[in-house]
Amino acid sequence: MIPSEFDYVKAGSVQEAIGLLQQHGDDAKVLAGGHSLIPLLKLRLASPAVLVDISGIGDLRGIKSGGDKVTIGALTTHNDLEQSAELKGSFPILSEAATLIGDPMVRNRGTFGGSLAHADPAGDWPAVALALGAQMHITGSGGERTVAADDFFIDILTSDVQPGELLTSIDLPMPSGKVGMSYQKFSHPASGYAVVGVAAMVTLDGSGNCSSARVAVTGAGAKAVRLTSVEEALVGKSLTEENVAAAAGTAGEGIDYLGDIYASEEYRAHLVKVFAKRAVLAAAGNVK
Ligand SMILES: Cc1cc2nc3c(=O)[nH]c(=O)nc-3n(C[C@H](O)[C@H](O)[C@H](O)COP(=O)(O)OP(=O)(O)OC[C@H]3O[C@@H](n4cnc5c(N)ncnc54)[C@H](O)[C@@H]3O)c2cc1C
Repeated sequence: MIPSEFDYVKAGSVQEAIGLLQQHGDDAKVLAGGHSLIPLLKLRLASPAVLVDISGIGDLRGIKSGGDKVTIGALTTHNDLEQSAELKGSFPILSEAATLIGDPMVRNRGTFGGSLAHADPAGDWPAVALALGAQMHITGSGGERTVAADDFFIDILTSDVQPGELLTSIDLPMPSGKVGMSYQKFSHPASGYAVVGVAAMVTLDGSGNCSSARVAVTGAGAKAVRLTSVEEALVGKSLTEENVAAAAGTAGEGIDYLGDIYASEEYRAHLVKVFAKRAVLAAAGNVK
């Protein structure tokens, strides 16, 4: 439970952090809130030679609304998202999901960007980012690039952030029209991590039918994914319990389910359908 020896450097700016990451290449790891990385170091599942601490870079923390999007700095904590009055109006799902993460200590230290970059298969934010159509801003020595959430989660504990790069901020497109959203999860009773969690955002047309839906699951397989069959089955329908149950019944196609001591593959497959239905019905109930 004692990490192997490492050097520690606290970066004062994004440029300094990128310079340090470039200098040390694969030997370096970014340290943000530390609530995923430190346990990995202690278990010696990661043994970087250098930790580049970005937690003091003020530019990376905060929430800015501007026109058609909200921009969230990578170092914005789970607690910041839970408490933000600004976000409660347009993105109530952020506060809803944040309250379900770990415990107050985890929520005070853990960051939105760290959670997304880490791409834990049981993390909550990846499903929410997919449902909201987030755009990730990643900076490296060559400048900034933007990656859609749909392309960001690559595999178990693997996102599109490359060695030498930083996830700096995340844009959420401002929802327009009659929109509802919700995140529902079956939590692991000890850690709070998602055994299965489903995020849903639905938009209704003038006659009250679903005109678009984004539904995504975490916890089920190696990475969070959208439940496209559910989305397609919802469009054009009234979001009655019967229609939503029928759409949710298609959930899980193509997922290579995880099985572990907490939940078998079969149980996770069952939970995905149950929580897809709950999330879509809750989103429909929240439409405003
Ligand atoms: C007891 C406990 C319970 C938890 N329960 C939950 C839960 O219910 N749901 C949940 O989703 N999570 C849970 N977590 C995880 C927690 O939310 C983490 O804080 C989060 O996943 C990672 O954020 P961090 O800022 O701590 O990242 P760190 O631990 O500092 O970093 C994680 C990884 O991401 C990389 N990284 C971090 N920031 C960046 C960046 N800006 N750019 C590039 N790479 C970066 C690091 O190099 C590292 O590889 C729990 C953790 C603990 C300890």
